[in-house]
Amino acid sequence: MQKRILITGAAGFLGSHLCDRFVKEGFQVIGMDNLITGSLKNIEHLFKLENFEFYNHDVTTFVHVPGKLDYILHFASPASPIDYLKIPIQTLKVGSLGTHNLLGLAKVKEARILIASTSEVYGDPLVHPQDESYYGNVNTIGPRGVYDEAKRFQESITMAYHRFHGLETRIVRIFNTYGPRMRLNDGRVIPAFIGQALRGEDLTVFGDGLQTRSFCYVDDQVEGIYRLLLSDYSYPVNIGNPDEITIKDFAEEIIKLTGTNQTLVYKELPTDDPLQRQPDIELARKILNWEPKVSREEGMKKTYEYFKSLSQEELTKSEHKDFSKHIIK
Ligand code: UDP
Repeated sequence: MQKRILITGAAGFLGSHLCDRFVKEGFQVIGMDNLITGSLKNIEHLFKLENFEFYNHDVTTFVHVPGKLDYILHFASPASPIDYLKIPIQTLKVGSLGTHNLLGLAKVKEARILIASTSEVYGDPLVHPQDESYYGNVNTIGPRGVYDEAKRFQESITMAYHRFHGLETRIVRIFNTYGPRMRLNDGRVIPAFIGQALRGEDLTVFGDGLQTRSFCYVDDQVEGIYRLLLSDYSYPVNIGNPDEITIKDFAEEIIKLTGTNQTLVYKELPTDDPLQRQPDIELARKILNWEPKVSREEGMKKTYEYFKSLSQEELTKSEHKDFSKHIIK
């Protein structure tokens, strides 16, 4: 019998790639999104398929889906520091009220639910690399607090439903992930740098650029999430690529990749911008037999091709605004 899966945040970057994957695996996919940060462009190719439906709905209000459901993936949430600034209350609500609604839905449908958590639950980590046993170092009232605390609450309520109601739950802690369909103007470093290179602008490095990140290509991330959903492990699992790089070196890689001759300009480091981030993925290796396969070189080439294919109009429209001043104390 065909399995039915609800994917929230379906029109977003990760959500849309997950829709593609589950459609390909033969599931009946119900995408849901309120399109605040998502775009129908990311899923318009799915509308003609029989095994895809779409609901334009805000999951912070009661969620109704007719018929049976076998799985729920909760991926609705703003996910960049710029978005948290613009829509902080929605960010808090989708992680808390939205998660509560979806757990309730999972309970009545007797569905397994996987929720998208984040490396942000580790905050500005004092332990390096971060494994799942680290409790984190989060500023509750900083600009990132609306996201970080919503996601921490989301993990708590999910475990409570698991323990109290016996719900089948899965928690993925997603580390920086990139690929086609990232929003050009979401302020994240990859679309920011590539957009700047394509428009012939200098690349804005925040701080001294010595902060690190570890970037995972979207196909690897989706594979990890797919395996976790089908596993029997209920505790949080890190999914990310441990290949760590400083933002300054990364900017230089992008200049090489794009063949432009931009230089780097330095701006102030936003408040609570984590100084280092690298996933420890031993747990995922062990229980999911998963590890990333796509190198940064290969993944960035594909990502660059995607951004190059956007129209000039889209590129200019989404000029990278310097929001950093808003996220500095
Ligand atoms: N960053 C930067 N220039 C930009 C945008 C971001 O130097 O134009 C830095 C940012 O300060 C952070 C890193 O790149 O240290 C990754 O930022 P992003 O917003 O992509 O993700 P997050 O901080 O949530 O990991």
